[in-house]
Amino acid sequence: MLKILAIPAFEDNYLWLIHDGQHAAVVDPGDAAPIIAALNAHKLSLVAILLTHHHGDHVGGVPELLRRFKVPVFGPRSEAIAGVTHALAEGVLVTIPELALTLSVLDVPGHTRGHIAYVAQEQGWLFCGDTLFAGGCGRLFEGTPEQMVSSLTKLAVLPGNTQVYCAHEYTLSNLRFASEVDSANTELHARIRAEQKKRDQGLPTIPSTIALEKATNPFLRYDSPAILERLEQAGRISSREPIAAFAALRQWKNSYR
Ligand SMILES: [Zn+2]
Repeated sequence: MLKILAIPAFEDNYLWLIHDGQHAAVVDPGDAAPIIAALNAHKLSLVAILLTHHHGDHVGGVPELLRRFKVPVFGPRSEAIAGVTHALAEGVLVTIPELALTLSVLDVPGHTRGHIAYVAQEQGWLFCGDTLFAGGCGRLFEGTPEQMVSSLTKLAVLPGNTQVYCAHEYTLSNLRFASEVDSANTELHARIRAEQKKRDQGLPTIPSTIALEKATNPFLRYDSPAILERLEQAGRISSREPIAAFAALRQWKNSYR
């Protein structure tokens, strides 16, 4: 039976440790120290490293982990990341025999050019890095709005009960923006209350689920009549063309405080 530990790092990152009580695989180890501490605390030995994209807060701990553990490093084929031993693209299956874990790979460009996501079908887990966030999506640093829409669409068609393990605790701030653009959404307001309660107790809001994201995340609802109307009202779109609406929404979020 596999479990997932959330390892907080930096300001608001989560590094995910998948383990069976003996072996562990880490997703996006931006920092080695908290991973090594967690491995020691839980008496786990590292057997694999999984990377979603090249940003430092996702890969920074790889060299130090490789000094201590000789393990395979899985990462995106179209990004140059030091230490990657298995370069992946959509359609490839990753197997981690020590954990009896199989993950399929999706190409989800937008935040970065080569960003990938990992889906553990049997367990119903999605590791999506900085593509889909709880209540939001990653900034478009290297990709286009078209690419991000297509990437988010791939994630949105996963089963509704898929657990979404994204890489940052941005949820409350994302949902504040969501209520600005989707104010009549009652599920959204219920979610804000529930997530606020978790944060008040010092708990992560992650994982969420694909069903919850589809109901409350404006970046999966950018073509809903309510959000299109709000974008028009705010003078941010001149037509209801979906990609333009998504781009306008992302732009608005970039400057929203
Ligand atoms: Zn990133």
